[in-house]
Amino acid sequence: MIKGRVHSIETFGTVDGPGIRFIVFMQGCPLKCKYCHNRDTWDAKGGKEYTTDELITEVLKYSSYMKFSGGGLTVSGGEATLQPEFVAELFAKAKKNGIHTCLDTSGFVDIDKIDPILDNTDLVLLDLKHMIDDKAKDLTGVTIQKTLKLAKHLDERNIPVWIRHVLVPGITDDRENLEALGKFVSTLNNVDRLELLPYHTIGVHKWESMGIEYELKGVPDATPEDIKKASQVLKEFGVEVFNK
Ligand code: SF4
Repeated sequence: MIKGRVHSIETFGTVDGPGIRFIVFMQGCPLKCKYCHNRDTWDAKGGKEYTTDELITEVLKYSSYMKFSGGGLTVSGGEATLQPEFVAELFAKAKKNGIHTCLDTSGFVDIDKIDPILDNTDLVLLDLKHMIDDKAKDLTGVTIQKTLKLAKHLDERNIPVWIRHVLVPGITDDRENLEALGKFVSTLNNVDRLELLPYHTIGVHKWESMGIEYELKGVPDATPEDIKKASQVLKEFGVEVFNK
C-alpha cells in the first residue's frame, strides 16, 4: 500500500474549503514562497508516514460534523500534488465514503500527474501567486505558467475552483498584477469564489526557529483598505472578491 508523508493534521478546519473540514497538510513543496507560513513543510523527507486507510479511518470519525456543516476533507501542504498517487488513492476512498473532497494547490504540477486526483475532487483551491512571470519567479522560485495551464484545464473539466491570491503590500498589490489577475479570472467559467488573502507575518517565527532568514522582513501586513483597493481593480473586470 502507498504511504504518504504528512506534515500535520487539523480536525476542525474552517478556512480551507466549505464547512468544517478535516485537513491533511502534506509534507514537501517545490516552491519557495518568500511569505510561506509553513516553512517547515518544504523538506520532502520530513513529516510522518501514513497509509490512506489510516487517514480515512481518522477522517470518518468526524464525518457527522462534516456532513452537518457541508464540510469534508481538504488536502493541502506543502504541495499536495507532490505525492499524487497517495492523494489520488485518498480522495478515491473519501468519495467511496461520501466525503466531499477539496484539493489546495499552488498548481505547480503537470496535468497528467494531477488528473487521477481530479477524478475524485469536488473543489480545487488554486493559489495564483503572481500573474507577472518574472515577479512570480522572484516571489516563489517558479513560473506561474503551469498554474495558469491547470486553471484552464480545470475549467475544461468543469471542476469548481476557488481562486486565492495573497495580497502582499508592494509585491502583489500593483495594478499591473491585479489587472492581469482580473482579466485571466474573467475568462474562466468554473470560479465559484475569488479570495484575496491579506499578507500577514504570523508564520515568520517558523523561519526564525529554523535559523533561516525571512526575506520579507519589514513588509507590513495588508490592511482592510489594501484589500478594498485591490477588490475595486478586480471589479473592473467583472470579478467579485469574496469577503468573509
Ligand atoms: S506553495 Fe505553500 S507551502 Fe509551498 S512555499 Fe508556497 S506558501 Fe509555502
